[in-house]
Parts: sequence; structure tokens; C-alpha cells
Amino acid sequence: MSRRAAAAGSQSSLREANKALVVSTVQRYGGLTQVELAAATGLSAATVSTIVRDLLAAGVVDTAVTTRSGRRAQMVTLARRVGLAVGIQIGHRHLRVVLGDFAHEVVAEQTLPLPHEHRSDTSLDRAALLVVDLLERIGSELDEVVGIGIGVPAPVDASTGMVSVPGVLRGWEGEHLAQVVGKRLGRPVHVDNDANLGALAEYTLGAARGYRDAVYVRASYGTGAGLVINGRVHRGFAGTAGEIGHVQVDPQGLICRCGSRGCLDTVVGAAALVEPLRASQGPLTLRDVIARARAGDPGTAQVVADAGATIGAVVAGLGMAVNPQCVVVGGELAETGEVLLQPMREAIRRRVLLNQIAPLEVVPAELGARAEVVGALVLALQSADVPARVDDTADLSVAAPPGDAGAGGTPDGERDEDRDQGQDEDERRAAVG
Ligand SMILES: [Zn+2]
Repeated sequence: MSRRAAAAGSQSSLREANKALVVSTVQRYGGLTQVELAAATGLSAATVSTIVRDLLAAGVVDTAVTTRSGRRAQMVTLARRVGLAVGIQIGHRHLRVVLGDFAHEVVAEQTLPLPHEHRSDTSLDRAALLVVDLLERIGSELDEVVGIGIGVPAPVDASTGMVSVPGVLRGWEGEHLAQVVGKRLGRPVHVDNDANLGALAEYTLGAARGYRDAVYVRASYGTGAGLVINGRVHRGFAGTAGEIGHVQVDPQGLICRCGSRGCLDTVVGAAALVEPLRASQGPLTLRDVIARARAGDPGTAQVVADAGATIGAVVAGLGMAVNPQCVVVGGELAETGEVLLQPMREAIRRRVLLNQIAPLEVVPAELGARAEVVGALVLALQSADVPARVDDTADLSVAAPPGDAGAGGTPDGERDEDRDQGQDEDERRAAVG
């Protein structure tokens, strides 16, 4: 609901709308001080203070004393009793599950290895069992879970929650992931591409915090990117936005699993990285390559550096299209640090226009290997309905109007962005400073 529409309504509906605005703002950032809440919502400090008191009495928020710029401040978070969410990341070789609360705090997590070319049915089964296991570990139950986010290494059609392009993730096509897990666990499920979720996490909590336009690059068994444009994750018409692993870098190159020739993934994917090392170092895995490059082995470091330069050139092209304020680099390959980042930075620096005002920042993901799974958690939290009251006789009516913070809305929960962009951006900086 826009604030203008609310003003036309009655006094009490205005109060409810303001309350919903405060709840959805806290939901989006994880936690804000009252001063920051006033700036982010455009409400007066007195109104925010009254609403926070009401929400505290209703059990919806918790407050705690914190400091901002050396002053005491009242930090507002959604209460733990409002619920937990689940983040699941399906990787090429592992499965990661986290449980977290509305303050974006991870309260339990577990990673399991997955076999090469694992299939959707068995992997989703293991994920579901792991969720129940983790809940048990912290003494919680499924009915406390407000939603589940799942990240997969393939383009996802947001409207169906299915892998939208065949060939990219074998054994996962035609599987209705949200439906399968939803049926199994009985909670709302939201599915997205892993690089998009990495972008969402780094934008909400990590290295891209405080920026409006950012590119997240995931360099792993394959390469992908997530785009944040004007504060929203940009997925594109069929969910393939940012699929830089399938940009052509070698017109005479190998045929990619997507069917095209000479894709970036055929040059810097796991198989391409281990191949030139076979003669001198024997058969290696991607993990071996990463470990040896980190330990300073010159041969493997050269392979990773060459990959960095090639990825950097493609990201520079993407950067020309998007004009981001920063490039955040995650995925397993980023564990080699400057071995990968320095040549990427070099390739991006060579594109004059990208660095016109200031050098385009290329920085490692702050959330490291957890960026994608934390992004899945954030997706679930931002998509959840927050109840207006939380107590023994829980009122099931919803504080945020349906479609505002509802499961059917835009999954990244950035709906009120248009309302007050400039102020919101100042606020983001204040919130994280
Ligand atoms: Zn391809």
C-alpha cells in the first residue's frame, strides 16, 4: 500500500499501514535503530517510537540497547518467536543448510558432500531430512519455520520455481523443486539461482551493503553472476540474467553443456582448470587446484590467474551494460584470494569507461562460502508474512498487507524501494556503518 493511499483512508488504517511499514522495513534490513527506522520509513521519531512500543507489546519485535556513532541507541529486530527460516544451497558437490531468525542470525548449520551428477530426488530428500535434523538440534519444530529458500546452480524461472533452461543442471529439469520440498516439509518454499542469492546476501549483509548497483560473481565449478540493479535482484525474463558462464569467449572453443560453442565455462569451469595440470601434476579436483594455488604452487596459481583474467574480461563487459558500483567475488575459486582477484581487477581496470569516476571496486565476498545459503535464508525471511501479534493465542492476521511482504510478492522483498530511494540509500549506509 502506498503511503498516499493510506492517508486517504481512516486514521486507524493509517496506523495499521504505518505499523506494516515499520515491520516490513525491519524485516528487510534484519535490524535497525529507532532513528534509522524513522529515516528509512519517513515517519516521525515519535510515531516510530509509539509503533515500536505497540509491536513490543504484541511480541512481534525485540529491542536492545546498542551504540551508533558513540551514542546509545535502541536496536529493533523482529522477535525470535516470530519464527525461523531455512536456507538450502544445492551445490555441484555439496548441500548446505542453515536455520536463521529474522535478525539474519544463523542459529544452526550443516554441510554435506554430494556425489558428482547427483539427482534432484535423492538430494532434495537429504535436504529435507537435514532441515528436520537441524530443527531438532536446537529444540525447534517445523511449525516455527516461516519459509524455506533454496538456491540451485542453474537459471530458475521465478514464477514456477523450476530450472528454466535444460542441460545446465542434469537430472534436475522438469522437477518442481518448490512443490516437492513444500509437500515434504509443509512450509512455503522459494527457489532461486545461487548467484542471485549470493548477490542478495552480499547486498543485504555483506560487501555490497550500502550500494545501489552491484554485481556478484560466483566463480566455482561453473561461473555465474547475480545483478543488483537499483536495489533489486534482476532475474530477467526467464531467469537467465547474469549467466556469464555462457558468454562466448572462444569462437573456436569446445561445445558447452548448454549447446553453444566456446562458453566461458568451457574455458574456466572445473574440467577446464584441471586439464592443463594433468601432465605435470596428475589428475586433480577443483579443491586440489584451490588448495595448491593457496599454498603458492606456481603452476596451479597460473591456471587460476589466467581464469581470473578471462572472467574479468567478461565481467568488464557485463559492467559496461550494468554500470555497477562494485563487483563482489564469491564461489570456491575466490578462496584463492588475490590469485584470482588481482587479474580480474586488472582486466576490469583496462576498460576505461568503467573506471571513469573512480576505479570500479573488485572485492571478495564478505560472507565467503556461505553467501549463497545465507541468500536463500534472506529470500525466505523477506518473503514471509509477519503476524500482527505473537503470543499463546496467536492472531493469524497479517501486519503487512498481502502482496506487500507476502509469499506471492517479489521474492527479494524490495517493493518499497521506489517510494523513497534517496532516503533509503542514506539509511542503508547509516544502518551498516
Ligand atoms: Zn554454455
